[in-house]
Amino acid sequence: MNRPADASPLATATALIATAQAMCAVGLNSGVAGNLSCRLLCDGRAGFLITPSGMDYAALTPEDIPWVAMDGQQEGRYPPSSEWRMHRDIYAACPDAGAVLHAHSPFAVSLACLRRDIPPFHYMIARFGGDTIRCGAYALFGTQELSDAALAALRDRSACLLANHGMLLYGDNLKETLARGVELEALCEHYARALHIGAPVLLTAEEMSAVRERFKTYQRKECGKGNVEQVKIRHSLDKRE
Ligand code: 13P
Ligand code: ZN
Repeated sequence: MNRPADASPLATATALIATAQAMCAVGLNSGVAGNLSCRLLCDGRAGFLITPSGMDYAALTPEDIPWVAMDGQQEGRYPPSSEWRMHRDIYAACPDAGAVLHAHSPFAVSLACLRRDIPPFHYMIARFGGDTIRCGAYALFGTQELSDAALAALRDRSACLLANHGMLLYGDNLKETLARGVELEALCEHYARALHIGAPVLLTAEEMSAVRERFKTYQRKECGKGNVEQVKIRHSLDKRE
């Protein structure tokens, strides 16, 4: 795995800004809601880069991006996101987390306002580690109480909803985390639409367990980077044409 912690601060801050801007472009965020961070070692100290609080992502430069140490010490010209505790606590609890994304995306917010877990209505729920996506208890934004509620909802999961607030998830790196944010918002939309027309039939625990097994060997390929088998298949198709 290409760990963000091995990258340079400038390259990581640049990638963080591009990904934060993409959150708006793909419809996960609007205005100054939401925040994004990426794990980064600084002079050998563990910590993370995070979007500054209340700032428009469109105008950010790498120098604007604060760094926060795991003990909460902060460096930078602007204060970090008010949710830095939530990001810090995820990095501390989840060694696999390379990036953390929080968004007020339309369908995630709509479901979070019902304060209900998303049940296994679709097999892609298993992408986030369990049979449900939990909705964490409500707490005021920017507080340790909200971080505690979020961590409880994330137990054995890489995503959750935050009551009357939005979505929260983590992934290996910025790119993967953004893609997973888009997947989670799509799932929220599908569930909201299904609820609108009726009562979705839920998958059983056995069916969800089979999906998780399947995911262990199922890997998405990046466009233009097919593996050897894919290249071979393409070659034989070309010959047939
Ligand atoms: P920040 O701008 O401080 O990151 O706050 C946005 C937010 O979504 C709070 O939950
Ligand atoms: Zn928020």
